[in-house]
Amino acid sequence: MFQSFDTSANPAFGSARVALLRAELQARELAGFLIPRADEHQGEYVPPHAERLAWLTGFTGSAGLAIVLRHRAVVLVDGRYVLQVRDQCDPAVFEYASLIEPPPSAWLAAAVGAGDRIGYDPWLHTANEISRFAKAIEPAGAVLVPVEANLVDAVWADRPPAPLAAVELQPLELAGEPVDAKLARLAAALRAAKADAAVLTQPDSIAWAFNIRGADVPHTPLPLSFAILAADARPTLFIDGRKLSNAVRAELAAHADIAEPGRLLASVDALAGAGKAVLIDPDTAAIALAERVRASGGTVVEGKDPVMLPKARKNAAELAGTRAAHRRDGAAMANFLAWFDREAPKGELDEIAVATALERCRAATGELRDLSFDTISGAGPNGAIIHYRVSTASNRKVDRDNLFLIDSGGQYQDGTTDITRTLAVGTPTAAMARHYTLVLKGMIAISRLKFPKGTHGAHIDAFARAAMWAEGLDYDHGTGHGVGSFLSVHEGPQRISKLSTVPFEPGMILSNEPGYYRPGEYGIRIENLIVVTEAATPPGGERPMHGFETLTLAPLDRRLIVAALLTRAEVDWIDAYHARVQREIGPLVAAETANWLAAACAPLA
Ligand code: ZN
Ligand code: ZN
Repeated sequence: MFQSFDTSANPAFGSARVALLRAELQARELAGFLIPRADEHQGEYVPPHAERLAWLTGFTGSAGLAIVLRHRAVVLVDGRYVLQVRDQCDPAVFEYASLIEPPPSAWLAAAVGAGDRIGYDPWLHTANEISRFAKAIEPAGAVLVPVEANLVDAVWADRPPAPLAAVELQPLELAGEPVDAKLARLAAALRAAKADAAVLTQPDSIAWAFNIRGADVPHTPLPLSFAILAADARPTLFIDGRKLSNAVRAELAAHADIAEPGRLLASVDALAGAGKAVLIDPDTAAIALAERVRASGGTVVEGKDPVMLPKARKNAAELAGTRAAHRRDGAAMANFLAWFDREAPKGELDEIAVATALERCRAATGELRDLSFDTISGAGPNGAIIHYRVSTASNRKVDRDNLFLIDSGGQYQDGTTDITRTLAVGTPTAAMARHYTLVLKGMIAISRLKFPKGTHGAHIDAFARAAMWAEGLDYDHGTGHGVGSFLSVHEGPQRISKLSTVPFEPGMILSNEPGYYRPGEYGIRIENLIVVTEAATPPGGERPMHGFETLTLAPLDRRLIVAALLTRAEVDWIDAYHARVQREIGPLVAAETANWLAAACAPLA
């Protein structure tokens, strides 16, 4: 199993561990220390040896920050985790506060006094993050101080070792572009940005640039590493040599120098000492790197990680791979949905049994490398918790005459999937079906949309909400995120959200996932992945147009569709989608699923 359902909540350690940390504060004459959830790569998942926040506080959520002062300590979390943090942390040790609004810098500004020195590990924070803290506490007369050795590491006696998963090559027929060609494109981008070199700190950027994958963190096939790209020289890949077989090392050595991660700073010093201009992303790179470039006499060029956009525009081979992954995953979903329809009405299932059955269906493909995230398996009211993660403590029976929400995905070597279906168990109420249909109208509106070249996420987000807005309803999350190609299930820079201004370009993969949540009762979300395509300009039209092709192939729950609320065009879209699902995955499903699938994909009318 790739998913565990343990709560791993143990608030009992917090008190002793914070006491150890405070002794370190004393010894180093610091008034406080910042403990983020992030590691030096700022990714969504961190390996066990970097779970400092969880070790210190007990809190295991995917985003958070602790601040430990001499006499106060706080865990700051976002809205998803306000209940979980109270379960996992000792209230005698920790206060709780918001990670978003007001921001953590405001909490710290109100807590510090004149002359206070607040320590931070410069490898775990970005330049932009640290500058926000520094500005906020300056009026109080306090300062931020980078510390050489992390205070948590100094007191973490049984800290696990760093992961050493073997690196594998992503075959050219799946990557679609040789490493040399990618590196040449990136070198040209550096020259255009007037940079001599760039330091890459995001492992998914490095994995894309060098056509490699790994297994250092859960759910994302990443080899943790750093790299330096150069405008006019060979790049260097900084990776623990124990992760490389001789064959992989030989292949990589054809394109790059290979060095141990411990050599990164020496290489940065050499570049900076020669007066080079070094591109560093202030939103994703550790502040330690920019500081080091400046200290060694180089110039920092602040700019976006140069890999993000090229990685986001999937090439023909990557798109062929993702389509194959979606057919395979769709067939596994259909097998699961048919099973769910047989079993759920019996009243025996619980959320863990459902998530386990779905993982088994994906594993039966023989090609599942990992889940792309922990499955969100929510019965009734748990479906209304947007980022719900089922544990043995929260596990709920699948309620009859209610809805079941399941959001899940698979990592296959040819593609990453992410799909949400909301399912009726027994007889749904009229309100449930009405809300489902409004969400579906939003999902269809995005799926069918044609838009001029240059359009971005903030322009189209409202199309997913319009049907709900007409009824005075809405949802409090973005409509879609970028998705990688056997990489991160959440990747930038493109998104469908009120804030995203990155223009859509052909080949970009996005999720399309409007929702509706009724706290204490039920949640609805319908999610397909889509890819940006060129679209024909209609006769008489003037603008070059783009549109979306739907990648996800699994039936929608027709029992929840209120046809009277749909336009003819929406009904046609659903019928055409279901006909395509039947055509593409019908031949791939298990024998006992065939009849179920045919009924699920029949025309609505
Ligand atoms: Zn999802
Ligand atoms: Zn998603």
